[in-house]
Amino acid sequence: MIAFTCDVDWAPEEVIEDTLNLFEVFGVKCTFFSTHHSINLTKSNKKLFEIGIHPDFTPLLGNNSSKSLEDILDEIIDIHPDAIGVRTHTMVQSIALLQKFAEKKMLYEANSFMPYQTGLKPFRLWNNLVRIPYNWEDDVHWAYGYSFDDSRINLDSDDLIVFDFHPIHIFLNTENKFRYNEAKKYYDDPKKLQEYKNTDLPGTRDLLMNLLKQIKSSNIQTHKMKDIAYSTLQDMFL
Ligand SMILES: [Zn+2]
Repeated sequence: MIAFTCDVDWAPEEVIEDTLNLFEVFGVKCTFFSTHHSINLTKSNKKLFEIGIHPDFTPLLGNNSSKSLEDILDEIIDIHPDAIGVRTHTMVQSIALLQKFAEKKMLYEANSFMPYQTGLKPFRLWNNLVRIPYNWEDDVHWAYGYSFDDSRINLDSDDLIVFDFHPIHIFLNTENKFRYNEAKKYYDDPKKLQEYKNTDLPGTRDLLMNLLKQIKSSNIQTHKMKDIAYSTLQDMFL
């Protein structure tokens, strides 16, 4: 089972639209974990796209947050009241958060990152939340120093495969942290961001395009995260 996910991370509209267009062109499903209101996400094709939430709890770690855990969670749920999946920004995790997610009627969480591992399995937590691990992330691929000409994930396997992309890295075709560090000064200025696009080496966009082409040409099914969560619960009760 293959699922694509994107952590929106406050990307501007043009950048979100660019990512949506790529998945739409190839007819590949993707779950977006959203950080804020986006008109492009809201009007996106729900046959292909699921919207989950991507709350940022990092202010709570500094003990100087003016907001509570619940405020942060409610803010993004108010924007996406139909969301039933969550991945937190920078993968902040705790028992208290997991309990809160269950209270707020989340069906699954996707915070457990196991880079390049095979044999991933979703499973049910004590509070009925389904945990769906993931095994590929764009910025971690360059943290390992890996080239973007190869995802190092075998799409032909029967295992669960969950990719995590960031629209900003798809837009910039990011291949290393240096490019991103330079570009991010202009995070909200897509025109200026254009000047920072990587055209020298294989990057995030090239890798995604190769995956999308392979999926289309081999007619591989893709899944929304919520469908993986539902089928996990069904299998358990059969
Ligand atoms: Zn994030």
